[in-house]
Amino acid sequence: MIEVKNARKSFGQNHVLKDVSLHVNDGDVVVILGPSGSGKTTLLRCINFLEKADGGTLTVGDKTVDFRKASKSDILEIRRKTAFVFQNYNLFQNKTALENVMEGLVTARKVPKETARTRAQEALEWVGLADKWDAYPSQLSGGQQQRVGIARAVVLDPEVILFDEPTSALDPELVGETLAVIRRVAKTGITMIVVTHEMAFAQEAANHVIFMDGGVVVEEGSPNEIFVNPKEERTKKFLSRIL
Ligand code: ATP
Repeated sequence: MIEVKNARKSFGQNHVLKDVSLHVNDGDVVVILGPSGSGKTTLLRCINFLEKADGGTLTVGDKTVDFRKASKSDILEIRRKTAFVFQNYNLFQNKTALENVMEGLVTARKVPKETARTRAQEALEWVGLADKWDAYPSQLSGGQQQRVGIARAVVLDPEVILFDEPTSALDPELVGETLAVIRRVAKTGITMIVVTHEMAFAQEAANHVIFMDGGVVVEEGSPNEIFVNPKEERTKKFLSRIL
């Protein structure tokens, strides 16, 4: 279970998250939609402490922290429970696909190297990259790099995976293969929060959709409630532009 209560975050005078609360049940696939600049990425980054929110609380499983007062060990504990898939993959360029996937297991989880290697190989095979273990990121397509990023998150067996616009840096022809892998992750039953502009994916893979605008949650509900019967004007306007 993930719960964010009253999250606030400003960059100078720019109040990016005004008072955001959300609740995610175990096994939920939550999609966050919203116009550019509405604070979606910032919210996701705050959940993983890649950004420090100015106020509010966060619960992941049995751990609750105050965003502002979280200690180093609180942050490490939250990070152990969460994994992040970045828009721009964020792979180590000087490491192979296999080494990238092993890295978190060895350094953060203290898994012995040989076990980490076996688990990383399995994870890469699972995302369809069994033949790319020894490739460096520069030798892989964007879609393949993102699949390494997904394998790196999945292998950690976290409580939740946070996907930040995982396909928006990809050439259009590579989006499908990457979404297919993300759907595969969703089918495992792991909890996921996905920021995306891929409406078809949101409609079909999500069981809960959150629409954000201007640093607040404007509306949330099932895909049917949001896509077929949106109540709020701002949601209707956004969807009419994008669908
Ligand atoms: P998009 O769909 O375009 O990615 P978003 O909804 O994810 O948009 P955010 O990336 O969270 O929006 O950005 C919200 C606002 O916060 C923007 O005005 C952005 O310029 C600002 N912002 C984000 N990160 C920083 C930062 N590190 N420093 C200063 N301003 C930032």
